[in-house]
Amino acid sequence: MQFHNIDGSNPTVSIAELRSILHECGHMLGFIHEHQSPSRVDEFTYKTKATIRYYADTWSPTIVWDNVLRVHAEQHLAAYSPFDDMSIMLYEIPACVNTQSKTIPRPSQLSAIDKAYATLLYPSTTTSHEATLRHALRLVGVPLGRQNIIMAANGPTEFRARFKEWNREARATHGESSCFHAISFIKRTTNHCLTHISKIFHIYSTTRRSGASTLNL
Ligand SMILES: [Zn+2]
Repeated sequence: MQFHNIDGSNPTVSIAELRSILHECGHMLGFIHEHQSPSRVDEFTYKTKATIRYYADTWSPTIVWDNVLRVHAEQHLAAYSPFDDMSIMLYEIPACVNTQSKTIPRPSQLSAIDKAYATLLYPSTTTSHEATLRHALRLVGVPLGRQNIIMAANGPTEFRARFKEWNREARATHGESSCFHAISFIKRTTNHCLTHISKIFHIYSTTRRSGASTLNL
């Protein structure tokens, strides 16, 4: 966990602070960096030396490798999506560090896919439309018939298992119409903690919809 730019003396959370908090909460949910997803190779290729140089003021080459350059192996992920350039789990991608010269700014809020996967992997009852299981299933591309099968699960454990089963099947057709988000599980994290963090995601999405630019946590 690296909570950069957090000013503990100020009761109001700035956008930069909120970005750091949400990003680290994503890690607690098991989210990996989007720029380390297997699907990033479809979008851009890091220039290794240029990337190490870019982060040289703050990170050693080993840390750059672990947090930026290394692509996570498919077999270690529960699922992964086409590259999501709106994900809170993405670092900024400057043109100088990739062979395609792409510039992708660092997102400051949760993407629709971030919210959908937080909802689907930690299912609970909620009145927020954006966080309903049906909405999330539809958003990530689960066909209607399969949605019904997953929704008929008996409890959150079975729901999660059925959703992951769909993920595994759809991963075999990667590059077609299926939509996954890169995610893995940190087993040592307790369910109680995950439930709490998931609520923060939902509170945040509600607050953003109401137009507030800051959030008191
Ligand atoms: Zn991170």
